[in-house]
Amino acid sequence: AAVDNAPAIVIGSGYGAAVAALRLGQAGIRTLVIEMGRLWNTAGSDGKVFCSTSAPDQRSMWFRTRTEAPLATFLWLDLVNKDIGRYPGVLDRVHYDHMSVYVGRGVGGGSLVNGGMAVTPPQAYFAEQFPGVDATEMYSTYFPRARTMLGVNTVDPTWFESTEWYKFTRTSRKAAANAGLKTTFVPNVYDFSYMQREAAGTATKSALAGEVIYGNNYGKKSLDKTYLAAALGTGNVTIHTLERVRAVQRAADGTYTLTADRIDVTGAVVETKQYSCTYLFLGGGSLGTTELLVRARETGALPALDASVGAGWGTNGNVMTGRANHIWDTVGANQSTMPVMGIDDWANTANPVFAEIAPLPMGLEHWISLYLAITKNPERASFTYDAATDSAKLGWTAAQSAVSVSMAKKLFDRINAANATIYRYDLFGDNKTFADDFCYHPLGGCVLGRATDNYGRVKGYPHLYITDGSLVPGSIGVNPFVTITALAERGMARILAEDTAP
Ligand code: FAD
Repeated sequence: AAVDNAPAIVIGSGYGAAVAALRLGQAGIRTLVIEMGRLWNTAGSDGKVFCSTSAPDQRSMWFRTRTEAPLATFLWLDLVNKDIGRYPGVLDRVHYDHMSVYVGRGVGGGSLVNGGMAVTPPQAYFAEQFPGVDATEMYSTYFPRARTMLGVNTVDPTWFESTEWYKFTRTSRKAAANAGLKTTFVPNVYDFSYMQREAAGTATKSALAGEVIYGNNYGKKSLDKTYLAAALGTGNVTIHTLERVRAVQRAADGTYTLTADRIDVTGAVVETKQYSCTYLFLGGGSLGTTELLVRARETGALPALDASVGAGWGTNGNVMTGRANHIWDTVGANQSTMPVMGIDDWANTANPVFAEIAPLPMGLEHWISLYLAITKNPERASFTYDAATDSAKLGWTAAQSAVSVSMAKKLFDRINAANATIYRYDLFGDNKTFADDFCYHPLGGCVLGRATDNYGRVKGYPHLYITDGSLVPGSIGVNPFVTITALAERGMARILAEDTAP
């Protein structure tokens, strides 16, 4: 196949990739972004780009015949999941033996499907996780830069206290306060002025219409509207979609060669392309980047990759749970899908937990308080290459998930005891009270300072870089995209200053 040359190639278009694309474009370097998902900018027959959560169609999930929503059941009935057509939909659930990982697919990666919570970790915990990074500089320069670029804003506290759309959050806050626990507002990239217009009936509803995991049609500042729009605006950046990079090699002259499969909307490979570049940036996310490099090392394509490539992976301690409130503690039929508050017990050294108060918009009163807990689970797993399937297998075990559950359980047992309430048994299947078999926050696999130097330069391979969540060592204590973005900003500033000088 013909070789298509670009000075710089970025694989993926999530947070790390989007930062790389913008900063390369601004530096005047012609850059090609290769994304396996589609560009989400064209309305379907219903006039909307994304499908709704209540009536999902082919646009919802990545080549599935049935949706696989995080909450499979309600009152033990399979009310949530629906049959759909196979299509490159926006949300993927990647299955490993004891852990499923949700990721976004499309131009914008996870920003298309996530809850928009834009949280900066406590500086002390960041410093603990990244001992080789100057935390003072991160908090004075790169975190603020990331927040500004991402369009982070906060809910108006007066509106929050009065609106029916956040009754569920206020009810969970009261239950936490009864247990002596602190809650804190968390910023978001959803435009809260737009949300207030939704509530007033003067703007088309998105967050107030249940939209989130299958994409928001309005209101959310996903990466295609921020970093990637700015990257395209430099005139130096091009994006190819529906192309999945399968192999990375290094040529004798030190340039990198990529093999990519271009697929059509049925998933059939319609063309296999070769690309070549001088600078290669890996932004396929924790799963995507780690798989590419584990495969490259084990097939002999990049044999000098460090032994730590594939290691140091964690779930950010993710575990989900639901509580049943008393009949008088209503959560409301109307719920905004954008979380704005967390229970912050991270400073409790005996059992650090940060729990996001999550929405469960069902259009009817159900008295459920739902939470996504981030626990300080120290367990880590590794990816290994499976030649039979040419894919990376994750060695995470059920016992490692149980560590997250026991930490979350300590916190929610306290809340239940203080409120004389119980867990919900009907939400996650098998009468489980904690969902411990999936996560939203895959982190690690190519940890900063181990698989790479302290800026994301891959050890052993000049001009090969990592910019995404695979750099984060398995845990960051809060929702991760602000940290991923800020670390990418830091890495790109250094790389552009030192490595690409003419
Ligand atoms: P990603 O955003 O995952 O982007 C990687 C991109 O690369 C994808 O588009 C993928 O299709 C593409 N790709 C991968 N491999 C290849 C390949 N071989 N070839 C071509 N393309 C490839 N985080 C928060 O901070 N706040 C939240 O509120 C929040 N809520 C979430 C809710 C959900 C439902 C989910 C799934 C995640 C949530 N997250 C949240 C997590 C957050 O979205 C991720 O941490 C973040 O997107 C990771 O960024 P990244 O740059 O590492 O990669």
